Amino acid sequence: MVRSNLVGFPRPQVIQSPKILVLPFSFSDGEPPTSYLGPTLGALNGAAHFYEQISWGKASFTFDAAPEQLWIKVPKTALEMGFSNDSPKPQSDSVSPFDVLKFASPELNFDNYDLVHLVGSPDLMDRATAWMEFDPRNAPIVTPAGTVSRASLITYSHNDSSLVAHELGHAWLNLWDLYSGQNGITDFIGLNRFDVMYNSVPNDYNATDMTIWNKYLAGWVEPEQIRCIVKAGTTSHFISTNSSKSDLPKAVMVKISETKVLVIDTWRKSEFNRCCNETIAYVIDATRIHFAGPYRLQGSLKNSGDQLVLDESLLATTTEWTLRPDESLTISNVTVTLLDSDASGALVEVTTK
Ligand SMILES: [Zn+2]
Repeated sequence: MVRSNLVGFPRPQVIQSPKILVLPFSFSDGEPPTSYLGPTLGALNGAAHFYEQISWGKASFTFDAAPEQLWIKVPKTALEMGFSNDSPKPQSDSVSPFDVLKFASPELNFDNYDLVHLVGSPDLMDRATAWMEFDPRNAPIVTPAGTVSRASLITYSHNDSSLVAHELGHAWLNLWDLYSGQNGITDFIGLNRFDVMYNSVPNDYNATDMTIWNKYLAGWVEPEQIRCIVKAGTTSHFISTNSSKSDLPKAVMVKISETKVLVIDTWRKSEFNRCCNETIAYVIDATRIHFAGPYRLQGSLKNSGDQLVLDESLLATTTEWTLRPDESLTISNVTVTLLDSDASGALVEVTTK
């Protein structure tokens, strides 16, 4: 399936300071999630701090909790709505914000908000999901309180700011999941330990910051901070460390075809990166959706002199997935050499054929 609105890599418009409405919901057979509002607001504070930090102060969000008398009471049981632990295990999209929002009170004025964050009781099935404005499957939800095009929904780990940050990565910033969830994709290596959209759980083995490609889509990296290579040759580039606030270049990008670009960025340990001091190269494939490897790690460079050679067999491993019928690889051989690196960034040499 082609995500047609991203082919050619246009950047969607992102609201840099959205207002979020926090809206608890319950079913006719359940308690309102009163005791989970506090942890939810705490997690939202944590996620707001996360976004302020990883965007170098360029973006964050504010939020209000809906008054208790306007919380959504779905006039059906959780079982009837597919939210119960006794419900048959849902297909990935069968339980969604749509099911809940259509019961919103007209007194909630969704026009005053950019995003609705739904919170349910942990008595329900564990569910964390998002409604993405840019996903062609997620048409705007028409409700008695107005139309909603961006929503997130969480029913467990209410105090987990990383989980909220991940869901808002979808609902607010239009970003795809980067972990694998699709059978039959054998070449998928995702981004293994990079990016909050890959794995939101912070630990010593992954980075929950964001790739420069996602920061570029979010509008935090300017086009002038991208060093673009579109033809054959050898060039050297300084890449500023991902987490550092800097106007210097943040990535080298090699245009491989009309729908594929190789991105090189560099990571140092920081508040949201407890694992990785390295320079990585990954392919963005605009024809792949959630779970099907839209971003694929090609390799990483740690020490001066380390080299990564990507030839046609590596860049085009799944031709039937990655190239459109009328398309061929523009650049079929890329060699990346790490010349030097320190806390401020990395110096790389890129040769393309
Ligand atoms: Zn996700």
